[in-house]
Amino acid sequence: ALADKIADILRPVAKPLDTSSLESGPRVILVCGVNGVGKTTTIGKLAHQIHVEEGKKIVMAAGDTFRAAALEQLQIWADRVGCSLVKKELGSDAAAVAYETYVQAKEEGADILLIDTAGRLHNKTNLMDELEKIIRVLKKHDETIPHSTLLVLDSTTGQNAHSQLESFKEIANITGLIVTKLDGSAKGGVVVSLADAFKLPIHAVGVGEEIEDLQPFDPDEFAKSLVGL
Ligand code: GDP
Repeated sequence: ALADKIADILRPVAKPLDTSSLESGPRVILVCGVNGVGKTTTIGKLAHQIHVEEGKKIVMAAGDTFRAAALEQLQIWADRVGCSLVKKELGSDAAAVAYETYVQAKEEGADILLIDTAGRLHNKTNLMDELEKIIRVLKKHDETIPHSTLLVLDSTTGQNAHSQLESFKEIANITGLIVTKLDGSAKGGVVVSLADAFKLPIHAVGVGEEIEDLQPFDPDEFAKSLVGL
């Protein structure tokens, strides 16, 4: 009975990410999240899924220009998926990277542009400024860009996920969530309170570190596993 009640809360938010192709140019998916939540990994998994399952052409933009490791990681994922990655030297303007990658992705005839962003929540003002600038600059191409703004949340952080979502919502129009690390000991109960409080779509869940470990969010299965059924 409890699993049924939980599934009732979760069903309305279980919605796949829209990856349909657009006439006007690449569909732009901006990916946000605090460092360590699994943002880069999720971009890699998403790119793989959209490329392999839907046969779409992907371009990635390395919008976290502050961490050398972030650039390297994203390059590894881009190589694995077999898609192009646009990156600039460390410390360059993330908004310029996003803007220019859109031009390149359009020229290349890409279907989907995935943009990584920096996740330094401890320095909220800078983060806010940078993310706002990325969005503002992208809108110079087209008012409807970004078409999706995803927030990646780590299920093992518990209630912290709420404050992260609150913070990012102040900066960007978050259109959906991806919840990671549901393969660990954490059962991800926070997903229920997130769904209840914010009603934002949960597009997918991360269930491991490998490229295939991104699954659609299944509210009934999730609710059952949460109560140990
Ligand atoms: P970022 O800083 O947000 O870009 O985070 P990363 O993508 O670098 O991931 C941080 C760590 O979490 C890495 O060790 C990943 O392998 C791991 N990770 C990401 N997603 C998952 C997941 O769904 N399950 C598990 N177990 N680990 C994950």
